[in-house]
Amino acid sequence: MQPTTLFYILIAIIIINFIKDKILDTLNTKHFDDKIPDKLTDVYDEKEYKKSQNYKKTNSKFSDLTAIFSIILTLSFFFIDGFKHVDIFARSYTDNPILVALIFFGVIMLGSDILTTPFSYYKTFVIEEKFGFNKSTKKTFWVDKLKGGFMSILLGGGILSLIIWFYQIAGENFWMYAWALVAVFSLFMNMFYAKLIVPLFNKQTPLEDGELKTAIEKYAEKVGFTLNNIYVIDGSKRSTKANAYFSGFGSQKRITLFDTLINDLETNEIVAVLAHEVGHYKRKHIIFNLFSSILLTGLTLFILSLFINSSILSEALNVSILSFHIGLIAFGILYSPISEITGLIMNYVSRVFEYQADNYAKETFAAKPLITSLKKLSKNSLSNLTPHSAYVFMYYSHPTLLERINNLEK
Ligand SMILES: [Zn+2]
Repeated sequence: MQPTTLFYILIAIIIINFIKDKILDTLNTKHFDDKIPDKLTDVYDEKEYKKSQNYKKTNSKFSDLTAIFSIILTLSFFFIDGFKHVDIFARSYTDNPILVALIFFGVIMLGSDILTTPFSYYKTFVIEEKFGFNKSTKKTFWVDKLKGGFMSILLGGGILSLIIWFYQIAGENFWMYAWALVAVFSLFMNMFYAKLIVPLFNKQTPLEDGELKTAIEKYAEKVGFTLNNIYVIDGSKRSTKANAYFSGFGSQKRITLFDTLINDLETNEIVAVLAHEVGHYKRKHIIFNLFSSILLTGLTLFILSLFINSSILSEALNVSILSFHIGLIAFGILYSPISEITGLIMNYVSRVFEYQADNYAKETFAAKPLITSLKKLSKNSLSNLTPHSAYVFMYYSHPTLLERINNLEK
């Protein structure tokens, strides 16, 4: 194959992906004003429903705008040989392949961050603010950005350096070492994320004694679930939107409740949400997700190892010196149709798991408080109650509210 052919294949993949997103968004937008299903008419009153429609439309326009901006930028970068220029820039400082790669990705990340920050700023302080969701101060916004940046430099840079080092010493077989590294790192992060990373951004406090804790303990005992770690996180520092999640396993397993969730829901509704989370654990979803993502990483790294030595990847991007980082960019785009498909499968599995966790909560606790809690959470985040089924199929990690309620009432 000619390098130019590969170049145009890369461009085609980017454009097709953009068109696919656009079609799905348009389908979804067409259903914004659908009649609300009978079972969900009590989620919003007239005024709130109007507000939710307005929110959907505002977000949809905004994401149209960002998508167009991003594709114009990406394509321009390809056509002006952006990768080549950044590669030359990085090589003007050093010949060390690891340092060249770090400077290369550093420049690209920094550039893209500078260009996209105005959008995330607008999203937080104009859109979310207008609809009453935003609680973040400007200081929190910038401090988050800074901390996030340091984290990516430290973790991303560290992992990238190690992988290139493996490539230097093991050649094509680097993928096995890289896989082991990523697997150990994922396991470690899954175990200690709540202890090491979350405190950088949020305050977590053990749930106080009281009615809620007693109710939770009573439930945990009933289902034979040892739960020593129930934490409340100050989600209200950034947004009024509520959430709860499960993390870790073994001795490190913990349930984290957003303070906003505790404010919005009644005690038995919170226990129902928690029962759903326990369901994820009991049905082994946490372990399944972790291992399937590790397996998938192995597969991706293996396929990468088949391509990384071929100079056509670099030549397609008009870079004369064959290097790991340029190969990674070209491969990343070539691989994206496959990752679309694996993503689709993961979303499907995730939706099946959500039903299983809901069923677990229904069997071991009750369906009704879970239904009312889901309705309240949908209302408080101005959720779209009438998404298009194709959109749900492609992007939703959870079944729609209506589907979940139908399942719970079965
Ligand atoms: Zn769930």
